Amino acid sequence: MEKGYSHSRTREHRLKRNRKRLILLAIILFVAGCITFIAIKVSDNKTHAPTQELAKKTDSVSKDSSKGKVNAGANGKAVSPKSDPEVEDGAFVEKYLKQQMLGQMPDGADGKKVAYLSFDDGPSVTVTPKILDILKKQKVKATFFIVGKEADENEHTRNIIKRIVKEGHAIGNHTYSHNYKYLYPNKRVSTDHVMQDIERNNKVLKSILGPEFTTRMIRFPGGHMTWNSRDPQGMAALDKVLHQKDYHQVDWNVLTKDAEGKSKKAPALINQFIRSVKGREKAIILMHDTYGKEETAKALPQIIEFLKKQGYEFKVMK
Ligand SMILES: [Zn+2]
Repeated sequence: MEKGYSHSRTREHRLKRNRKRLILLAIILFVAGCITFIAIKVSDNKTHAPTQELAKKTDSVSKDSSKGKVNAGANGKAVSPKSDPEVEDGAFVEKYLKQQMLGQMPDGADGKKVAYLSFDDGPSVTVTPKILDILKKQKVKATFFIVGKEADENEHTRNIIKRIVKEGHAIGNHTYSHNYKYLYPNKRVSTDHVMQDIERNNKVLKSILGPEFTTRMIRFPGGHMTWNSRDPQGMAALDKVLHQKDYHQVDWNVLTKDAEGKSKKAPALINQFIRSVKGREKAIILMHDTYGKEETAKALPQIIEFLKKQGYEFKVMK
């Protein structure tokens, strides 16, 4: 009996102890779970806030997008260029143009026709909205190389910048001043002045589009090729700094000559464009949307229709 009693006491004791251990374990697991949950929430807020913000901003755009999918506006870093079929990696275009200029077969030549519409020197309140209307109607995206002082001009120009991004186009940096004398004093490339002007433009764009705005795309006023031929050493030094900062400059290989020589009417621009685009597999097309470029807007629908008929797809550069 006594043995049995003692045995059952020990069993009872052991059961109690096990129950206590189980309860303790449950409490530990519960607390650990709570801590993990809180930690995940906090890190989520920290790392994904800009992306969520961006997703919210682009949501309204995706409704009227032809593919129901829109790249993350101006922020090249939020969405990998490779993940969106309408977005080209700016570094790819830079390399492609460089090899083409050197008379080499570009690595990126793959038989696929791609058109990169680009508009420099804007925004303007007279021409840019017309161009945006046409692009919307044609369901085509473009890259706008913005001049900071034009963007910062007034509420209307600032709103046009917002509209460009909202409608799914890309924004590139065309410097703040576009002033040759400042950027290229004595026809020499000034790394300091160019970089200062690029960053000043970035500040303007961030003030309009929000602090998360970034762009990797640079277009030199007058073109990289022009200043590279005048001051190759100066340009090599500048290129090094640009690449350290993950900036990529792109010129063009097709143009309408809407900013060269005498002003031309739309049919002359279209003819020039057709001559220029011939044989171009990747067509980086230079046009302008600044004041006085109404003929460019008039020519644009036919230029886009021509490209579509020729089998080009359209991409923006980021
Ligand atoms: Zn320009």
